[in-house]
Amino acid sequence: MIRLFDSAHGEIRELHLRDPGQISMYVCGPTVYDLPHLGHGRYTLIWDVARRWFTFQGFTVHYVSNITDIDDNIIERAGREDTTEVEIAKTYELQWWEAMDGLGEAFPNDVPHATQYVAEMVELIALLLERGVAYSTADGIYFDVSQVADYGLLAGQPLASLRAGARVEANEQKRSPLDFALWKNAKPGEPSWPAPFGDGRPGWHTECVVMSLDLLGDDFDLHCGGFDLRFPHHENERAQAVAAGRPFARHWAHSGWVMVGEEKMSKSLGNFTSLTDLLSKTDSRAYRLLVLRSHYRSPIEVTPATIADAERALARLDALARRFLLPALAGERLEVKSDFDWPPVTRTLYEAVAGALDEDLDTPLAVALLFEALSEANTMADSGNVVEARHLARAVSALFGALGLVLRGSADHVDEASQALVERRDEARNAQNWAEADRLRDELVARGWTVEDSAAGTLIRRP
Ligand SMILES: [Zn+2]
Repeated sequence: MIRLFDSAHGEIRELHLRDPGQISMYVCGPTVYDLPHLGHGRYTLIWDVARRWFTFQGFTVHYVSNITDIDDNIIERAGREDTTEVEIAKTYELQWWEAMDGLGEAFPNDVPHATQYVAEMVELIALLLERGVAYSTADGIYFDVSQVADYGLLAGQPLASLRAGARVEANEQKRSPLDFALWKNAKPGEPSWPAPFGDGRPGWHTECVVMSLDLLGDDFDLHCGGFDLRFPHHENERAQAVAAGRPFARHWAHSGWVMVGEEKMSKSLGNFTSLTDLLSKTDSRAYRLLVLRSHYRSPIEVTPATIADAERALARLDALARRFLLPALAGERLEVKSDFDWPPVTRTLYEAVAGALDEDLDTPLAVALLFEALSEANTMADSGNVVEARHLARAVSALFGALGLVLRGSADHVDEASQALVERRDEARNAQNWAEADRLRDELVARGWTVEDSAAGTLIRRP
């Protein structure tokens, strides 16, 4: 059973899934007009970790994340650089995927692009006009938020108090400052698409509601994003679905932001100017570990000091992998399943970690438990209990692998068969079966390994 904090209810709730065993999730993606920043890295890491953990726990996950490839910022930059909107979007989408790849994030199952969905958006807007929840002004079509009875659900405030706090805008044709653009009428020199209500381009809030419903279907399970998207973006997505009579996301989850004070942002203090910049200066796993060590709903600080601290913790993990010759779990990150046969010494660890992660994705608790287990494995091996120590170390590695953090051990690639021989030899030595231990040593030597005995058990390396 997975429980998450649901922003629509303001409390941690069990995920009630549309189809048992399957989780459909939509994560709002970037508008591609600049390099990705640290905040992008954090929220995508969080939802990557959630997706991996759900998969590890045996759920089939359908993960959709969009690209907004047309908007005011893209148009503005294209004008400034004397190029096309298509070129700007292509350039920065490439930068985006390079950064996501650098962070070791699994690719979404679907990546809808806003410009591919304009016809469907036009259809939704036409329906909203027909139903009288949208109206037309000189610069485009707006959504009338007063038509949705529970508008303000995600903001956690009723419409009246949202209205009192809203800025007064220049557009006098808008009935309320909270009303939002569904469609922006075409302007000379800007990209536009045909529509029965006048050529133009879609508003941002309309993109996500159309794309998520198209790819995940009505009543999908989980809509995620950074905390700043809760209102107005997600509120407005939801309002359109409600007005169109489409059951929308069953659960809403939002992640905290990255804190960078004004002074801390300054380059002279050696801070990171973008995610791309951070990834060029550190092992990306350090950023993942830094993210894992904070609760996803809390803010984090990303500075050279917090990154350096994460790098030191990472070094301890890699040292464990070296000591116990642990195989990297890179290739099987998404395939590792929780029904993996946990030896008794590791079952308690798995259950404690699963208890933490299934309860509102408590990664700081899970990471603390894994570091305790790391110390325990080292202590066990120091006192000669090599077999159990290795099991525990493998479990630490497998569970970090389940969160997308791959430990790096020996520089030599240790194949599965050799790894199995090493383990059997340690078991034989543990049982004082010296003849069997010698036989297994010969088998390893025949496979081209140099074999050494250490406090951590059998060590192998290429001569
Ligand atoms: Zn969105």
